[in-house]
Amino acid sequence: MAASVRVKDGLISATGSLEACAGEDVVDGGGQMLAPGFIDTHSHANGDIDAVPDALSAISQGITTVVVGQDGFSEYPLADFFSKMEASPSTVNFASYVGHNTIRNEVLGDDSKRVATAEEVAAMAKILASELESGALGLSTGLEYEPGIYSETSEVIALAQVAAAVGGRYISHIRSEDRWFEDAIDEIIRIGRETGMPVQISHIKLAMTRLWGHAEETLAKLDAARADGVKITADIYPYEYWQSTMMVLLPERDFTDHQAIEQVFREIAPAEGIFMTRYEPNPDYVGKSLTEIADLLEVDAASAFTHLAEAAQHWEQENGRSAEMIIARSMKDADVGELMLWPETNICTDGGLVDLHPRGAGSFPRVLGHFARDKGLMSVETAVHKMSGLAAEHMGFTDRGFIRAGLIADMVLFNPDTVIDRATPEHPDTLSADIESVWVSGELVYRNGATTDARPGKIIRRN
Ligand SMILES: [Zn+2]
Repeated sequence: MAASVRVKDGLISATGSLEACAGEDVVDGGGQMLAPGFIDTHSHANGDIDAVPDALSAISQGITTVVVGQDGFSEYPLADFFSKMEASPSTVNFASYVGHNTIRNEVLGDDSKRVATAEEVAAMAKILASELESGALGLSTGLEYEPGIYSETSEVIALAQVAAAVGGRYISHIRSEDRWFEDAIDEIIRIGRETGMPVQISHIKLAMTRLWGHAEETLAKLDAARADGVKITADIYPYEYWQSTMMVLLPERDFTDHQAIEQVFREIAPAEGIFMTRYEPNPDYVGKSLTEIADLLEVDAASAFTHLAEAAQHWEQENGRSAEMIIARSMKDADVGELMLWPETNICTDGGLVDLHPRGAGSFPRVLGHFARDKGLMSVETAVHKMSGLAAEHMGFTDRGFIRAGLIADMVLFNPDTVIDRATPEHPDTLSADIESVWVSGELVYRNGATTDARPGKIIRRN
């Protein structure tokens, strides 16, 4: 539909057939599509916003709001992060969850590889309440990571109740995305049922051979839970490969267990589908697959895995930060498409602003160009809704996400016939094509491949 949009004081003030008033600036959309600014509900942009203050890889995809504090890890205390971002804003808006892993580390410190006591859960609840007071959207967990992996469901529910009590939400990198996927889905459904709060599955995926082709069963289970009153939703990024650490492949964390490693190769990601994207002990391995590294070392792939993990652990103990990152091919495009089509799935990147996985620069245009237009999976309008209105609903935002009078003027103008991602694993930072212009609170922040000088990004606090 051809229409005009009037923006005044950062808000959309009118839409429809409009005449320009005297002194108004007029932007000709040239017949392209104007959409509400995209909302990335699972972002790691907080990690490198200091290095990349204009958030180019996000804004160039049409993303105007990033939701951070994901996978159970948040900036702490949030009040400091929020004031820093308000003192020197970016192009994009920020909202954040409170990370379970972060507050668990605060309370348990180095002694976190165990179940927490009642006193410790109470201490975590106190920190959580104070972080929620600062405006966090709710509680995020990363139950496949340390130290959340050592928590019991009862601990998570006790904390989720604290967020539920103030109208917060729950978002989770669930306890297993492969071996115990079904149990992990049951756990988040239980959390939604017992707390009554909205719960969201982060970056939903079927990341194991035995799960491939079974999107229907998963979605049937989620639909049944919804029919039962559980407010469960999901987000997804549009790739067949994920990025994380080597160790996430081994829930027992025993990198000398060759049987477990061989099982990973058979059922989760083949050795030729695992690529090092960061490897501090020997940066020469970056970009190489495990098979290639095994050839260089003249050992089998499982031995290469053990060798790399051992050296990484040693490096981490000496340097106090993470030593490695991998991209691993574990998903199928058809499953990704089916999960994406679920009416309760919105789009995310799971990316950072400087990312070795192409999702950080390409996710949203890839959904618009590859999945919606080229594969014909859904209409471009549906794709846009999954990036804006639906995402806003899932995060509890009521003042953005649609092109509607009275809402905040976060908007993106793009060419639906040509928009496409260009980032690849070899060149993960290549910007997408044909996202033309992006406005945040009515200010032009991106045009034709470059950011402007405007930095109107705000902190979005829980309503
Ligand atoms: Zn995650």
